[in-house]
Amino acid sequence: MQTNLADFIKDTPEGKEAEAILRSCVHCGFCLATCPTYQLLGDELDSPRGRIYLMKQMLEGEPVTEKTQLHLDRCLTCRACETACPSGVRYGHLLDIGRGIVEKKVGRGLVAGSMRYVLRQALPNPGLFASLLKIGRAARPLLPEGLKDSIPAALVKESRSLRAARYERRMLVLQGCVQPGLAPNINAAAMRVLDKLGISLISAPDAGCCGAVSYHLNAQQEGLDYMRRNVDAWWPYVAPETEKGPGAKPGTKERATGGANEETRGIEAIVMTASGCGVTVKEYGHLLRHDPAYAEKAARISELTRDISEIVEAEMPALVSLLSKSAAGMENSKQKLAFHSPCTLQHGMRIRGVAEKILTAVGFDLTYVPDAHLCCGSAGTYSILQPELSQQLLKNKVTALESGHPDRIATANIGCLMHIRSGAALPVEHWIEILDEKLEVAQPGTIED
Ligand code: SF4
Ligand code: SF4
Repeated sequence: MQTNLADFIKDTPEGKEAEAILRSCVHCGFCLATCPTYQLLGDELDSPRGRIYLMKQMLEGEPVTEKTQLHLDRCLTCRACETACPSGVRYGHLLDIGRGIVEKKVGRGLVAGSMRYVLRQALPNPGLFASLLKIGRAARPLLPEGLKDSIPAALVKESRSLRAARYERRMLVLQGCVQPGLAPNINAAAMRVLDKLGISLISAPDAGCCGAVSYHLNAQQEGLDYMRRNVDAWWPYVAPETEKGPGAKPGTKERATGGANEETRGIEAIVMTASGCGVTVKEYGHLLRHDPAYAEKAARISELTRDISEIVEAEMPALVSLLSKSAAGMENSKQKLAFHSPCTLQHGMRIRGVAEKILTAVGFDLTYVPDAHLCCGSAGTYSILQPELSQQLLKNKVTALESGHPDRIATANIGCLMHIRSGAALPVEHWIEILDEKLEVAQPGTIED
């Protein structure tokens, strides 16, 4: 697509990236059929090609209006269009640039601006989020039906405390922001599964929100600051030995580069149990590439980042052997699961079929899910900011997931899990919890033992 960017953007790094992306789009329209908002609304301006056109106009200096903002806001950032695109258009990166500019040019009204501010403050802060959740749960009986559904009921499964690293093989895990409050069992399950496979999963105390919440609410500098904080928190665990530096105290296990010690040194990977965080951390290298103090470190962090499915897939022979040693391991083998692959997993990280392959290999029967490429409507804060579209997508997704009459629904991202749980009659869990449960049957005993 021919472009002629306006002076305000053309010589900036963002302008150059946007121009390259715009030029790669050949306007073929192959992406339209896979776009959930185009399917629901039937308006070209709510399709990838239409939004690309709106952003092109804006970057070429045409007036930007609230209508432009509305069409960009309605995008789920699901990136199904990237999967469908034969020209490799990096739509997600263009949208980040486009939304940032619209935000500066159009702004937000008081109510919408305040709502976004509150979300940016509450969600990335695990302590504040947990307190708000507690208050919400206490007030739940008094709330109207619609609002009740958005407050998750108390947890059925609680995580168990885990002891420190005991194996040579160690990996970091991101605790994240909302997941510890909503579903602490997910990371605990990942720790137990990997422990049985001879890998210790540890976490860096100073790491927190991956930065996606702020970044996708157009507070991009704030998002980048969260990312820098995580790079700083993880770097002592991944820094080359040469960075040990003169500050290391003789006779102690501390390193000059931070709080890591002999027990935590030399981690193999940084593991993500929420694909929404994984897709962001895998992009730290790209997002911080213009920051001279962080570019190299961020690229290394991204290189080490793995979704939990990638880790377990690499250990499949050991996993299958563990299960085959016990007849009990096959007891629930006839259970039917419907797997919802989050957009951040299948389109963002382009990890397709891996968790499904693992679940099938350990004996679950996976049902066919129609339109599995479509978003469930959760999409970060989308379910709060675009409730009508989000609810329509949820309804369609639950119908599709339940159509094969599964016993349970499995997924790989906390946002999708909570959203689908709010609309489904069946239990909805992270697939690693289901695998953990199966391993516990086959090989009882946990790492607290
Ligand atoms: S499929 Fe790709 S090249 Fe074709 S219109 Fe969509 S984004 Fe552009
Ligand atoms: S990211 Fe998803 S919602 Fe947005 S344009 Fe692409 S397919 Fe449509």
